[in-house]
Amino acid sequence: MPENIPHSVAVDREMCQTAAICLAYNIYELDDESKAILLTKNGSNSDDPSNILATRDGFVNITDLLNGESKTLEEMQEMVLESAKLCPFNAIIVRDAEGNQLWPI
Ligand code: SF4
Repeated sequence: MPENIPHSVAVDREMCQTAAICLAYNIYELDDESKAILLTKNGSNSDDPSNILATRDGFVNITDLLNGESKTLEEMQEMVLESAKLCPFNAIIVRDAEGNQLWPI
């Protein structure tokens, strides 16, 4: 699998301070505690421990994200990385397929 290409994403709940800039990307929603969560294709989210599309630490593959608009994989990868870079608290973590952290660096 290629390195340095966004593959999965998670939100660190401790770091998320509800700045909500990420909501503009239609990838995230705020939960009841005003923390950003990732919505997945199966109607669940990254914070649901029973969600098979999310790892225990909340990582979701970009291909498993719920995406209301029709975007290509490349566009989604770009959006995920861009949203992570815009989060003022570095709460959005992006990894490549090898598990290398691409953001925050
Ligand atoms: S921009 Fe960052 S801090 Fe704000 S809601 Fe999104 S993840 Fe949380």
